[in-house]
Amino acid sequence: MDVAIVGGGPVGLFIAASLSRMGYSVTVFEEHSDIGNPSHCSGLFSGHILEIVGGKERRGVLKATSKAEIVAPDGSSLQIQSTTTKVYVVNRVEFDRSLARDAINKGAEIRLKERVRAVSKGFIKTSRGEYQSRIIVGAGGINSVVRREIMVSAPRIIGAAQVIADYHYEDEDLVRIYVGNKIAPGFFAWIIPLGDDVAKIGLASYGNSWLFLKRLLKRLNAQPLSVSGGGIPVSTVSKTYGNGMLIVGDAAGQVKATSGGGVYPGLKSAQCAVRTIEIALESGDYSRAAMKKYEDCWRREIGKELSNAQYIHRQYRKIKDVDFNNIVRELNRPDMLKIINEYGDIDYPSKVVWKLLKKNPRLIKYTRIIARK
Ligand SMILES: Cc1cc2nc3c(=O)[nH]c(=O)nc-3n(C[C@H](O)[C@H](O)[C@H](O)COP(=O)(O)OP(=O)(O)OC[C@H]3O[C@@H](n4cnc5c(N)ncnc54)[C@H](O)[C@@H]3O)c2cc1C
Repeated sequence: MDVAIVGGGPVGLFIAASLSRMGYSVTVFEEHSDIGNPSHCSGLFSGHILEIVGGKERRGVLKATSKAEIVAPDGSSLQIQSTTTKVYVVNRVEFDRSLARDAINKGAEIRLKERVRAVSKGFIKTSRGEYQSRIIVGAGGINSVVRREIMVSAPRIIGAAQVIADYHYEDEDLVRIYVGNKIAPGFFAWIIPLGDDVAKIGLASYGNSWLFLKRLLKRLNAQPLSVSGGGIPVSTVSKTYGNGMLIVGDAAGQVKATSGGGVYPGLKSAQCAVRTIEIALESGDYSRAAMKKYEDCWRREIGKELSNAQYIHRQYRKIKDVDFNNIVRELNRPDMLKIINEYGDIDYPSKVVWKLLKKNPRLIKYTRIIARK
């Protein structure tokens, strides 16, 4: 085969569809028996994701929303209503399956229930057999077997817990975010309404996320219908290529550390992977130097925003509850809200942060307090 892809998540499937469309022979190995399951994701997607994959109407979009509320530890809140950007609540299982259908329709083979145990240059050993491939792509998420082969340390991971819950909601179009160290230390909690008094309620944190989530559910009087959890990378890895190999998506830590959203940066990086692989297959050069073009590409396209997000995340971790309350108060001004509503973009959070600091220098005080800690 030309390309073997370890992992049938959104990143691996997108690469498979793109390369098969160009006429290459591609096989995806997925350890589970069902594409999309088990799903750990909240399915909150920016419009950029749907632009990359196209065909919005068949990607499991449940609804669009542009409203969010951020709740501070003291209960005060900030209501955001974007004038420019919409986010989409997406059925992630349907989303992944739609990408799998694209890949199959273009000629890719998806081998379910086949776990890749080991890889080396041009060679794959799975739970069912052994294969040869000109290029191997590691898109297996946080526990990447390909990352191990290219001898790169794993990204930093934080734990997330989520439930689908029976929960009465006043506004079915509003995504609610809770910040604070007693709610979700180092990260945040979320409620994403799915409709008909059902919502996804989850959180990620530097503590025991299940314990914090249980407390939140009790406080909200929400009854879980199903539970899931997973790890979210909050740092990118030092190197994402090897001899005839690449790692993409969560495997490479290509996730926004501010929000935990990994699908957009994963797909942006996947586009770079596709371009690099096409050139390599055409030239027959799969050396490290040829594969490095992928790393140059994704760092140029999305690397700066990912490292800005990591910086903001590191500062955010140091914020005390009293400062969260003050920051929410400072942002709750018409001029601040106007900037958030106009420039807020979950895929490019640093843009709005710099604009807010410029407009309201009082906020700089908090960045200084944080920087001192
Ligand atoms: C609770 C939670 C909520 C989230 N919410 C959002 C959100 O709202 N929006 C967003 O953009 N992102 C969200 N994310 C992050 C997002 O889910 C990931 O960034 C995204 O799934 C990464 O895609 P991927 O294809 O790189 O990896 P994955 O989706 O992890 O897919 C990897 C696939 O590889 C398979 N695999 C692994 N190892 C092997 C092997 N050795 N052999 C064969 N198969 C293998 C796995 O079974 C899996 O199917 C969330 C994450 C969590 C944990």
